[in-house]
Amino acid sequence: MRVLTRAAQLGGGGVLVPTMGALHEGHLSLIRLARTAAPGPVVVSVFVNPTQFNERADFERYPRDLDRDVALAGSAGADVIFAPQVDEVYPPGIQVPVPALPNVATRPGLEDAGRPGHFAGVCQVVLRLFDLCQPTHAVFGEKDWQQLQVVRALVAAQARDVTIVPHPIVREPDGLAMSSRNVLLNPEARRTALVLRQALIEAARVETPKAGEAIMRQVLDRPGIEIQYAVIRDAETLETWSPARPGRALVCARVGDVRLLDNHAWPERDPGH
Ligand code: AMP
Repeated sequence: MRVLTRAAQLGGGGVLVPTMGALHEGHLSLIRLARTAAPGPVVVSVFVNPTQFNERADFERYPRDLDRDVALAGSAGADVIFAPQVDEVYPPGIQVPVPALPNVATRPGLEDAGRPGHFAGVCQVVLRLFDLCQPTHAVFGEKDWQQLQVVRALVAAQARDVTIVPHPIVREPDGLAMSSRNVLLNPEARRTALVLRQALIEAARVETPKAGEAIMRQVLDRPGIEIQYAVIRDAETLETWSPARPGRALVCARVGDVRLLDNHAWPERDPGH
């Protein structure tokens, strides 16, 4: 496996797995899927993108450990780690464009409302990474459901020749969605965090978005939790759900001082989906 910091050293083609590092089993599962998604090298980018953080403190305390990431990515089958410095992605004196944002990045009032500027940074870095790495395929996790829809819409709007491959949410044995931010939870907050998943499962069993949203709020109404949103929406546009369309239940809550996300198919389809 090769660790590269310069895009000029990359050969192009293959499957890109964009990450911000602090790899966990969820990322490794994406890397394993990348191995089977298409021929060509599996390139894992590790880049904590400053332009998608709307809080400086969140950027600064984001966990970083490249040596560990290299070992883990290699064990999961990565061929290349692309770990650029900030000035490789955003060269001084060159304006890396922020593309026109798709509606799903601006209208739903979810991550777009809670993290102003976040999706502008995500779209900017994703297109930049596509330009630098020239993948035929790129793997994104369903954990960041709105992000996945944003990337799909962006690729369609820009007619980019890259296939977006989704990966289901990877969870801890007790059901908590894996996240690089979970290490920031203290033991009590770690226990409390389990209610996000419980809220989604309970909501999946009810018939209307209104009832589902009410149940989620009930389950999440605990000391130590500050709900940011708990909604049921159209799975693709993340706007109001209409019958016969796939739906998605999405929650975001601050547990302690850590902002956690989770989501689930709505209403329940295959058990375990
Ligand atoms: P991040 O490093 O948090 O930017 O995540 C890199 C990629 O891994 C994104 O496509 C995430 O959606 C995905 N990812 C992170 N955690 C999980 C998880 N628990 N399950 C599935 N995908 C995940």
